Amino acid sequence: MRAAVCPAPGAPVRVEELRDPRPKEGEVLIRVAACGVCHSDLHVARGDLKFPTPVVLGHEISGTVEALGPGAAGPAPGTRVVASFIMPCARCPRCLEGRDDLCETYFAMNRAKGTLYDGETRLFRPDGTPVAMNMMGGLAELAVVPATDVFPLAPGLPLAESCILGCAIMTAYGAAKHAAGLRPGQSVAILGAGGVGSNLVQIARLFGAAEVIAIDVRDEKLPEVMKLGASRFVNAAKTDPVEAVLALTAGRGVDAAFEALGRPETVAQAFRMTRDGGATVIVGLAPAGVAAPIEITRLVRRGIRITGSLGCRVRTDMPEIIRLAGEGKIDVARPVSRRYRLDQVQEAYDTMQRGEIVGRAIVVL
Ligand SMILES: [Zn+2]
Ligand SMILES: [Zn+2]
Repeated sequence: MRAAVCPAPGAPVRVEELRDPRPKEGEVLIRVAACGVCHSDLHVARGDLKFPTPVVLGHEISGTVEALGPGAAGPAPGTRVVASFIMPCARCPRCLEGRDDLCETYFAMNRAKGTLYDGETRLFRPDGTPVAMNMMGGLAELAVVPATDVFPLAPGLPLAESCILGCAIMTAYGAAKHAAGLRPGQSVAILGAGGVGSNLVQIARLFGAAEVIAIDVRDEKLPEVMKLGASRFVNAAKTDPVEAVLALTAGRGVDAAFEALGRPETVAQAFRMTRDGGATVIVGLAPAGVAAPIEITRLVRRGIRITGSLGCRVRTDMPEIIRLAGEGKIDVARPVSRRYRLDQVQEAYDTMQRGEIVGRAIVVL
């Protein structure tokens, strides 16, 4: 099969021919239709995080079931499916308490070592060299995913665009539902209108937010985030975003401020625009070791909750998210603004790194 391989940290991603992978026990082989282009893969490609190479990136996929491994309780071959970037083992203590987002096996085996849960990769070059899997290694024609992370798509959903359910949308959903606990009538600010941020706009509306303030440094993102449900747009390159949000909320700040960039200055801004008793929710990932300045007395005196949020509770949230998308309450097509071929992956990453992608770009296989 063809796959986009990052041969070494910092080296450009290129298409290689790999052996067709085979699913083992409890796993599903998916013929990938599309894979989203997400910033968190860049941390691996650039070498910000220690990770084995060569590696296949890509973790936000939709496609059709090609084959089931032995004993896999997966949907039948031919079923249209989506897989989330968190692949819960369903056996560790955190999975057993429903916190798939904290799955110990996933972090120990996949995010630290680039393998599936028997400690081995499913990907190999023709000469037998093992190729690591960043999550399921979705930027390839075929991907092996544990059956716990394979979800049938609702009828009527577009197959390619639905890949963004597996990271951008489920991350926005988990942050709004579990981390912020958003309630109808609340006010929200979102720092960074990229893949997750632009979907946070529509998810905040889904949870009934009355005021949704989108903040970015590029005016060209304004029309799209307004269509997704933003009530205001603040250009942080032209005006101080904290002052702007305070001015729009009678000096109080927002009930929930979401930071989708993983940068010290925007984390601090999100905290400073959160109202007394509100929540600052960080969803942006940063290179290892990066810290943000938080004013201690403001945190204590104002009873602000600062919480991180990675993805969602996969096995319970994904079926719900797919149902909402199937009913048209979550739009999978509108956030997708660009489509690339597999041999254009590096170009897609470069464009994303320049901050030029509105919403989400996807690679269509
Ligand atoms: Zn992602
Ligand atoms: Zn687990």
